[in-house]
Amino acid sequence: MLAVENIYPQLTSKKKIIITTHQKPDGDAMGSTLGLYHFLIQFGHQVTVISPTNWASFLGWMPGSRQVLDYERDISKGNELLNEADWIFCLDFNTLGRTKKMEENLLSSKSEKILIDHHQQPQTEVFTYGWSDTSKSSTAEMVYDFIKNSGHEEKLNLVTAECLYAGVMTDTGSFRFPSTTPSVHRMIADLMEKGLQHSGVHEALFDNFSENRLRFIGNVLLNRMEIFYEYNTALLVVPQSDLVKYDIKTGDTEGLVNFPLSILGIKLAAIIIDRGDERKCSFRSKGNFDVNIFARTYFGGGGHFNAAGGQSKESLDDVALTFKKAMKENADKLCTYKF
Ligand code: 5GP
Ligand code: MN
Repeated sequence: MLAVENIYPQLTSKKKIIITTHQKPDGDAMGSTLGLYHFLIQFGHQVTVISPTNWASFLGWMPGSRQVLDYERDISKGNELLNEADWIFCLDFNTLGRTKKMEENLLSSKSEKILIDHHQQPQTEVFTYGWSDTSKSSTAEMVYDFIKNSGHEEKLNLVTAECLYAGVMTDTGSFRFPSTTPSVHRMIADLMEKGLQHSGVHEALFDNFSENRLRFIGNVLLNRMEIFYEYNTALLVVPQSDLVKYDIKTGDTEGLVNFPLSILGIKLAAIIIDRGDERKCSFRSKGNFDVNIFARTYFGGGGHFNAAGGQSKESLDDVALTFKKAMKENADKLCTYKF
């Protein structure tokens, strides 16, 4: 994988470009891809953002989101674009498997693939150019750096700023996680000086939900939460029937796993959701418990040190049992409480 700076001299010659990200894109995935989109179209490139799957409705306000192609809804168009592209930017994921059904065609496409990502252990061998930095708060922060270092900072306009702000803000838990460095705050100050109205972005992201979602959260916290104080751990197990009962849509469960971390002493929080075709797991930790390794070891997943995910084809009950067993195997790390 060659350094991403190598593409700067080529930015000014017109290209067919795809920007893609991981399945079920979150705020950083959508914010970084659309931020880069608004930058690249100013060069006259033909740019398409492709999402491997649909995305949460609370991301629908983002400028350009209506033009994003949902690969699952139009696979033939998606494949045509993948095969014709000169460049495919791969943002906010480390392994092609994170693009689900797109993986095979992404791998076989002859286009040059460019990685910009902050997850651990990237699959560097499949990318022609790339930049992987696990110390970065978000991929949106990396796209900001990419634009600044490209020599075309004047193209960082207000719509780009809104998308990038949404990415950084969501991936840093509204600037509270340890990944929020002085550079992050300097970046945000710069975006505000460029005219960014940050309050509007917060409202668009966080105050845009249905009554059902709030009642669903109430139900999960009341009826589906188990606390294991001896392991400083909390587990949420959500059956598919709850998703049906409360009419839960893509994105409605986002952030739910964080709630138990507000209980005094809880160091590891997990959620297992029965999505029908698979059981999706999310893990969040505080301090020195590495959920990236935990997710890799027990749930075929990965992510970051304090935020990771995985999935399983086992039944919901069996995945919950696997979790409890894994928790006990990690007792020594969970029982010592250290930040
Ligand atoms: P979330 O729990 O919000 O789905 O994901 C938390 C973090 O872990 C994100 O950075 C996400 O990219 C990563 N992640 C989630 N699920 C998986 C997975 O199945 N495999 C890998 N490698 N990473 C995941
Ligand atoms: Mn991210």
